[in-house]
Amino acid sequence: MDKKRTISRRNLLRDSAAAAAGGAALLAQVRPASGQAPAVVTGQRFKAWISRGTGPGRTTLKEATLRPITGRQVLVRTEATNLCYTLVPAVLGLPLPALGTPQPPPVAGALAAPPGTRRINDMAVIQGHGGVGIVEAVGPEVRRVQVGDRVCVSGTPHCGACYRCLRGRSDMCQFLSAIGADDLVAIGDLADGTPVYQNSHIGGLAEYMVPPEEWVVPIFTTKPAAEVGMVCGCTSIAGLGATATHGLTAIEPAMSVAVVGCGPIGLSAVQGARISGATTIIAIDPVRARREVALAVGATHVLDPNAEGDGLVDKVRSLTTWPTDRLWAGGRNPGGRRPGSGADLVVEAAGLDAVTPRVERGPDPTGILAMQQAYRMTALGGHIVTTGLVRGDISLPGNLFSFGGITHHSGQAGGCSPMRDIPRFVELLEKGQFDARTLATAVVPLERLLEAYEAVAYRTTITGIMTA
Ligand SMILES: [Zn+2]
Ligand SMILES: [Zn+2]
Repeated sequence: MDKKRTISRRNLLRDSAAAAAGGAALLAQVRPASGQAPAVVTGQRFKAWISRGTGPGRTTLKEATLRPITGRQVLVRTEATNLCYTLVPAVLGLPLPALGTPQPPPVAGALAAPPGTRRINDMAVIQGHGGVGIVEAVGPEVRRVQVGDRVCVSGTPHCGACYRCLRGRSDMCQFLSAIGADDLVAIGDLADGTPVYQNSHIGGLAEYMVPPEEWVVPIFTTKPAAEVGMVCGCTSIAGLGATATHGLTAIEPAMSVAVVGCGPIGLSAVQGARISGATTIIAIDPVRARREVALAVGATHVLDPNAEGDGLVDKVRSLTTWPTDRLWAGGRNPGGRRPGSGADLVVEAAGLDAVTPRVERGPDPTGILAMQQAYRMTALGGHIVTTGLVRGDISLPGNLFSFGGITHHSGQAGGCSPMRDIPRFVELLEKGQFDARTLATAVVPLERLLEAYEAVAYRTTITGIMTA
């Protein structure tokens, strides 16, 4: 035996490679050395809520057949999907309620996919943008997950390789820009041959999801599907992203936090603020039942914007003022003639009314007033995270905007970085720090989806979770 050979590093590596030859031979069966690896053909038939056309009745339960799983696609058997309020118009086909005052036209192009040659309403699309489930098959290029893994299909992709991911803003991952009608890939077919697509490459309102792996985060938990579906839903991820990560801004112990709007995002933000150590947590919502839940999950104060009226901002400022504002005594000086301090962090989670609520209505269906109030109740030098969709443009007090020291953060999913943060959110559920059960107020089987979506739309439930 050549002495040199036995000690060279290169040959050590070569020997260990030879020892692994058994494994390599196994792999070769599914990964030929040359040419494209084969797609995984399941031919699986599955039930899916499919939207097409316009108006009420555009979403119906149909049976489809899966196309082969290729490339970086992951076949996920859906366990649970949260019914996001953002998709109320797409699912229920209801027009936005008319407003009393004329609104400026929307600014074209803001984050919307560019107009394509295909019209999304002409396509058969599975709605939803996320869920949790079990991996049943993976395309030949998938690395992140394996068959049998439990996964969160995140509404926000995370490639880890694009400019924005690498600069710490994976909530703005480049893959998010490729979800327009022309970008979508058919994942199945209806019996009449109509191709079936998924909202945002994800879907969720079906027995299967076929996202590319960039949208998939492995989670290792045995918690019940509805609870995992809640904490991994886009709403909880946004609320926790804003308050329990350092993605956009950080909560330090004993900080004051105000949460404007107590739907699933706001109520998750209340919990994230509690978990992160905030000691004053003010939750604001017109719906009494939601304020009660806010108190149950960690709010220290609740306010009704209808009852407070124009005094809402001053009330938040007074609740966040420390015992002294004396100069040199370490007080939190209100600054100028502002009554009181203002919250260190404000999370705006109110948003527009997609339909007129069947519970207590807020003061402004466009969501604009809530956003303006949120800005004005932020402490000088404080931070505001906005998560709501509004109808129209926002105007703010110019000088407060210009030199009030308020940092505004906007982002997808509250700035959550999916691969970094979602497993941590699941850990909060595992260890009893995040209360998913109290937020998941309507858990329904797949067949009762529309009924639960109406409850979400009219705000008679906090969250709807569909289990498949
Ligand atoms: Zn959503
Ligand atoms: Zn990316």
